[in-house]
Amino acid sequence: MASSVYDSPVFDIANAQYERACAWLDVPQDAMERTRRPKRALVVQVPVRMDDGRIQSFEGYRVQHHLSLGPTKGGTRFHPQVTLGETAALAMWMSWKCALAGLPYGGAKGGVACDPTKMRLGEVERLTRRYTQELVPFIGPETDIPAPDVGTNEQHMAWMLDTYSVAVGRGTPGVVTGKPVIVGGSLGRKEATGRGVAFTVLRSMEHLGIAAEGATVALQGFGNVGSHAARALAASGAKVTAVTDHTGGCHNARGLDVRRLQEHVSARGGVAGFDGGDSLAADELFGLPCDVLIPAALEGQIHGRNAPKLRCRILAEAANGPTTACGDAVLRDSDIFLIPDVLCNCGGVVVSYFEWVQSLQNLTWTEAEVNDRLFRIMEKAYQEVLQFGKTQGLGTRDAALAIGVQKVIQAKRVKGLFP
Ligand code: NAD
Repeated sequence: MASSVYDSPVFDIANAQYERACAWLDVPQDAMERTRRPKRALVVQVPVRMDDGRIQSFEGYRVQHHLSLGPTKGGTRFHPQVTLGETAALAMWMSWKCALAGLPYGGAKGGVACDPTKMRLGEVERLTRRYTQELVPFIGPETDIPAPDVGTNEQHMAWMLDTYSVAVGRGTPGVVTGKPVIVGGSLGRKEATGRGVAFTVLRSMEHLGIAAEGATVALQGFGNVGSHAARALAASGAKVTAVTDHTGGCHNARGLDVRRLQEHVSARGGVAGFDGGDSLAADELFGLPCDVLIPAALEGQIHGRNAPKLRCRILAEAANGPTTACGDAVLRDSDIFLIPDVLCNCGGVVVSYFEWVQSLQNLTWTEAEVNDRLFRIMEKAYQEVLQFGKTQGLGTRDAALAIGVQKVIQAKRVKGLFP
């Protein structure tokens, strides 16, 4: 394969998965090549005046993977490891996820290579606004709709919404999702990804005959997704026994007090120093015996070296792309039940879709309405993956990706090729 600007270890993971799905679907080579790389990508320089008066320039990206099922949709990541290749991989995963859930979107992703944990609030606001300004010609409620991801949250979406609205001269709530409820966000969006993760975990426990009450859960990442998944699982009777993040880790065999841990993380910026358990080294987490292991941080965390050491019964991929191709090969030969990322964490984009619909139509749904619709869509996708895997003799990842990839390839086929 010819080299490309997207070449990176994370894009390799996404591509290896795509090739497996295409091989199984028997997609012709030319049709496969058409969707292997993103349709469009924008790279921007983002100069920011820092609090000490210096101007620091950051590199930002927005990638739109395909445009065949509607406008594109995907999160915004602020993290030092953000690259064009990683952003492209995340956009590709969004494509399969949206198609699997039946949402009218192509996949997109954006991000800025920066370390927001080392920046002052005003600096982050100026970075967010300048990045958004650079994206104005590329995004919009009918073209590409950003949302939060690692390192961004509701506040960043409010700044993005405001910056875009000022640029186009009118309030445009449909340009982002995951915004605060007061400015048109949806009830239940903040919690949706974690809730959806918990939904797929509880369904899988039922499937495997594991009781939720007292089941043990270990988590990597305690940000938006990890913390809400932990809360929802604890509310169902599970015990969250171990959590690690970029600052450290914590373990308590009797179960951590999730609410208190969340307060600690809000106040201190990370799990390190939490007094509700013993400290745990980051690399010890994956080898702990537990019923459910939930990677909810970054890509590539489960690989050829640590995959053979996993001692969980269910691996719930809350993060995008947490498993490398080598790690995946090990998992396929194990008896661990895998909930693949495109299914496990799709609750976020499902409720983002609800938020977008509400913004475009000036509607407000209740949280009960949002959750009810969310669980119905997730139930359908979950059953489809299980059923397809069973009838076709495929594992859950291959089944989920085959369904998603097939829908995109079919849409392209039926629409034809311009000109
Ligand atoms: P977040 O920024 O709220 O939290 C990220 C978490 O990862 C933090 O706890 C951080 O400490 C931890 N982390 C960062 N680097 C780490 C490292 N090197 N080792 C261990 N932990 C590390 O982000 P989030 O929104 O919770 O996203 C987490 C994952 O879920 C990402 O893969 C993201 O793409 C995926 N996801 C998010 C959403 C969403 O709605 N936010 C939707 C779908 C998927």
